[in-house]
Amino acid sequence: MVPHSSGEFYLIKLSKRVNEVSYAIRDVLVHAKKLEAKGKEVIYLNIGDPLKYDFDTPEGLKEEMYKAVKDGRNGYSDSKGLSELREAISRKERDVNNVVLDPENIIVTTGVSEAINALVASLIEDGDEVLLPNPSYPPYISYSKFYHGKPVLYRTDEENMWFPDMEDLRKKISERTKAIFIINPNNPTGAVYESKTLKEIIDIAGEHGLPIVCDEIYDQIVYDGKFVSMASLSKDVPIIGLNGFSKTLLITGWRLGYIYFKEENGELSELKNGIEKILRVRLCSNTPAQYAVANFLNKSSDHLKGMVEKLRARRDYIMRRIEESDLLNCIKPKGAFYVFPRVSGTIPYSKDSDLVLDLLGEEGVLVVPGSGFTDGKLEGLYFRMVFLPRLEVLEDAMNRIERFLNRHRILS
Ligand code: PLP
Repeated sequence: MVPHSSGEFYLIKLSKRVNEVSYAIRDVLVHAKKLEAKGKEVIYLNIGDPLKYDFDTPEGLKEEMYKAVKDGRNGYSDSKGLSELREAISRKERDVNNVVLDPENIIVTTGVSEAINALVASLIEDGDEVLLPNPSYPPYISYSKFYHGKPVLYRTDEENMWFPDMEDLRKKISERTKAIFIINPNNPTGAVYESKTLKEIIDIAGEHGLPIVCDEIYDQIVYDGKFVSMASLSKDVPIIGLNGFSKTLLITGWRLGYIYFKEENGELSELKNGIEKILRVRLCSNTPAQYAVANFLNKSSDHLKGMVEKLRARRDYIMRRIEESDLLNCIKPKGAFYVFPRVSGTIPYSKDSDLVLDLLGEEGVLVVPGSGFTDGKLEGLYFRMVFLPRLEVLEDAMNRIERFLNRHRILS
């Protein structure tokens, strides 16, 4: 390194492992911001944050937050999270998801994002494999690579409502596999798995002595049928559950989530201790938010019904527009707030990222390329968009998308 006193410019080197991470959902923003700086109006359909649209944190929860701050709940808390909150989560999981958990087996985290990081860090050694759905929520892929593991993507089948392809899942299990991951309801596809599918995954995990990791952050944002939690079905296969409050309580910016461990015979005890150890290093998650959510969870979840109904109308609208188009195909999402349409072969793009950037440049609509949700391959051109905005905005966005696709279609 050149000493500072020499006056020469010197570049601080970046660690190699940073190259392993990416987050397509926010990476595309850079391009949109540049366009906006030039005066172009952009419709943002990239980030799954209801608070960027016409959804707001329930008033009662805001009041709990003011109260917590006013009452002086502003110091550090226990690294595992407040016992009041862990108890409230245990009651929520019992009442909503039929999952019985000792609060001692629940750890509060700074969003599910932190839980993914701490879990993967504690679970894998160099070269270990984790089985992830294809497509997948990107941090699962990024963190697996960051910790020098190997994300192995199992196929989920568009023809079968984007459910996991069990044969492919079985085939991909190896000596190095550490866990089977599922995201249910799914981001980006909106699939909500049936009990039969969940039981098949439990059987496969049981046969191979593997734990299942299930991300259920959208558990209460479901439009058709009933959501079934993986942990409510498993008897002796260890389940690591990831969940949080960003979406269901409309507090994405407060950063609060949790990880839980459901086991019969202490199979997860070492892993749980490891995760606690890692989380002690980051001290604790947001204390006033923990108090506020603990109090609020014990009172009401009245806002959810209105929120889900509002979203259902938007989902139905966007699906009607997609079905009317001969250039898009999409499996109707049953949960979460994303659509993941496939673009017809008559659109001459080989890379979805080129399509997304041209759509942004020409029509000012920002979506996320399907390839951002995989580390391997997706057969076909896909993009993900949120259906969180008001109907007028969705209508405008769909008109622009249609115009773009029609302009680029190859006429036969
Ligand atoms: N898991 C899934 C499937 C998500 O879609 C998201 C956010 O979009 C997260 C986790 C991250 O949530 P949090 O805000 O709790 O970090």
